[in-house]
Amino acid sequence: MTIAIVGAGLGGLALARVLHLNGMDSVVYERETSRGARGQGGMLDIHSGQRALREAGLIDRFHAIARGEGQDMRLLQPDGTLLFQEDTPDDAPLERPEVDRADLRDLLLDSLPEGVVRWGHACASADNGLLRFADGGSAPYDLLVGADGARSRVRALLTDARPTHIGQNVVEIGIPDIDRTHPGLAAMVGRGSYWVLGDGLSLAAQRNGDGRVRIGLSFYNTAEDWFATSEIPFDDPAAARARLIELLPGWDPRFTALIAACDDTVVPRSITTLPVGLTWPSAPDVTLVGDAAHLMPPVGEGANMALLDGALLGRALATHPDDFPTAVKDYEREMFARTGAAARMSADLQELLMSPDAAQHMLAFFRPG
Ligand SMILES: Cc1cc2nc3c(=O)[nH]c(=O)nc-3n(C[C@H](O)[C@H](O)[C@H](O)COP(=O)(O)OP(=O)(O)OC[C@H]3O[C@@H](n4cnc5c(N)ncnc54)[C@H](O)[C@@H]3O)c2cc1C
Repeated sequence: MTIAIVGAGLGGLALARVLHLNGMDSVVYERETSRGARGQGGMLDIHSGQRALREAGLIDRFHAIARGEGQDMRLLQPDGTLLFQEDTPDDAPLERPEVDRADLRDLLLDSLPEGVVRWGHACASADNGLLRFADGGSAPYDLLVGADGARSRVRALLTDARPTHIGQNVVEIGIPDIDRTHPGLAAMVGRGSYWVLGDGLSLAAQRNGDGRVRIGLSFYNTAEDWFATSEIPFDDPAAARARLIELLPGWDPRFTALIAACDDTVVPRSITTLPVGLTWPSAPDVTLVGDAAHLMPPVGEGANMALLDGALLGRALATHPDDFPTAVKDYEREMFARTGAAARMSADLQELLMSPDAAQHMLAFFRPG
């Protein structure tokens, strides 16, 4: 019985790893040509996903790469007022440590035998037990698992649902090697997350393990075509930084200094999600894990859910190695309930971030009662 997994992200790799631990083979088809072909982005906050890493026999190795101090948090208002600061004691439990996405992906990749991941295989379509690749090749499957992220190709085999824009557009910028290049700004941001929440705008800076501070500037309640009308010249990074500063009128100069110190990486990102509580009638030979199944606002649940999906589908298949349809049904029943709850919570948090007085709402969130 051939298990084909499309996508070597966190969900697909967690599944392949748990299958491997249970003596079951799978093949992961990944469109990127190698593990380093594309930057993997910034940090992930891993909490419930630790259960999946335990199931995958990787929790000790995870703790070795996790950054407990990354849990530090500072929340400010645009006028510079510090509303909330939490510093993580050295002996604090690793409840929600941060980890570099590339380190976590490497951990999973290194835990698989050579040849499980087939790089440079972009899935173009699939049906009736045959996966077709963009280069004209094909491969058979008995069970196909779409772990191919937000823009999943496999999803269309199960549902017509598509991600829709949620009125948030993000510009990603960053300061490399901040301790050496801008020590004052490094001290200001600290070891973890540094959030400035205004009305309809936010700046989220975060220290990464490689010394880079990644910054996301979010523009809320903006249309899907906002980048086209925002007059941010993405092809001229210095002018783009100047325009971004213009878009933060009245913000404390310490915050705009962060933008001025950034390098020439300026990446636009539109935020889309799938409907909360999306389900589909179970199919005997296809299922989905991770963002392909339940794309949520980026408020800290997606990677955790993807890891859990992969690990729990792996366990269900190991429990029913001769009955994939039953394994898929059992997995989907649990996954729909768990990820539906996470998606609802994420949507509520997103609503707070997008509301007027977001800073006060988030303060109440961090300091309930
Ligand atoms: C800015 C940002 C910050 C985030 N921070 C957090 C956080 O702190 N905590 C958290 O829990 N979540 C976070 N998330 C969400 C998290 O990144 C995702 O939910 C998670 O990566 C989903 O994993 P996945 O395996 O489903 O998909 P992905 O990680 O997207 O992996 C999909 C893989 O499939 C491959 N692929 C795609 N199409 C094809 C194809 N046709 N053929 C073959 N391969 C294909 C891709 O190349 C990729 O390798 C964040 C998201 C963003 C955007």
